[in-house]
Amino acid sequence: MGEAVIFLGPPGAGKGTQAKRLAAERGYRQLSTGDILRSHIARGTELGQKVKPILDRGDLVPDELILELVKEEIAAMPTPRIIFDGFPRTHAQAEALDRLLEELGVELRGVLLVDVPREELIQRLLGRAQAEGRSDDNEETIRKRLAVYAEKTQPLVDYYARTGNLKAIDGLGSMDEVYSRIQSALNHDLH
Ligand code: ADP
Repeated sequence: MGEAVIFLGPPGAGKGTQAKRLAAERGYRQLSTGDILRSHIARGTELGQKVKPILDRGDLVPDELILELVKEEIAAMPTPRIIFDGFPRTHAQAEALDRLLEELGVELRGVLLVDVPREELIQRLLGRAQAEGRSDDNEETIRKRLAVYAEKTQPLVDYYARTGNLKAIDGLGSMDEVYSRIQSALNHDLH
C-alpha cells in the first residue's frame, strides 16, 4: 500500500528543505508543485508560459491545472510513496487529494504544519531572493504570497486538524533542529 505525507506551511517556512531530506532518508518521492511549475517555466513549455505571470505576481495557479499535474505525477508511480510539498494549497485541492488517495489506496500518514512567525518569513524570503534569484522573491510578491497563504491555505490547518492528521512543528531554529522535531512527530506512526 502506498503512503503520503503532506508538508503544510507558509512560504519561507523551510518546507522544501525538510521535505527533501525526509524523502531521501525514508524513501519517499518529494512532489513539489512549485518546482514542477518552475521547471515548466524554465523549459518554456506552453504550461510554463501560461503560469509564469501568475507565479510572478504571487497568485495561485488554478486548481484544475495543479490537479492535472499532480495526477500525472502519481499515475507514473507503481506504489506511491510521496511527500507533497506546497500542495494542497486550497480547500478544493485538499478535497480532490483526499479522493485521489482513497481511489489509489494510498494512506495519509501525517500532515506536518511547519510554522514560523511572519517577520522571520519575510527576512528569510528576502535572503533567499539574493541567494537564488527566484523571480517571485521580491518584497511585494512576498507580501502577496503571505496574504494568499493566510486566505487560501491556512484554513487547511483546521481541515486536517479535524481529520486527526495534523502535526504542528516549530519551524524556528537550525535545519537540524527542525528536522529532529519532524522525526519525533512522525516516529510514532511512520515506518
Ligand atoms: P513558496 O511556498 O515558498 O512560495 P512554492 O514553490 O511552493 O513556493 O510555490 C511558488 C508558486 O507556485 C506559488 O506562489 C504559486 O504561484 C505556485 N504554486 C505552487 N504550488 C501551487 C498549488 N498547489 N496551487 C496553486 N499554485 C501553486
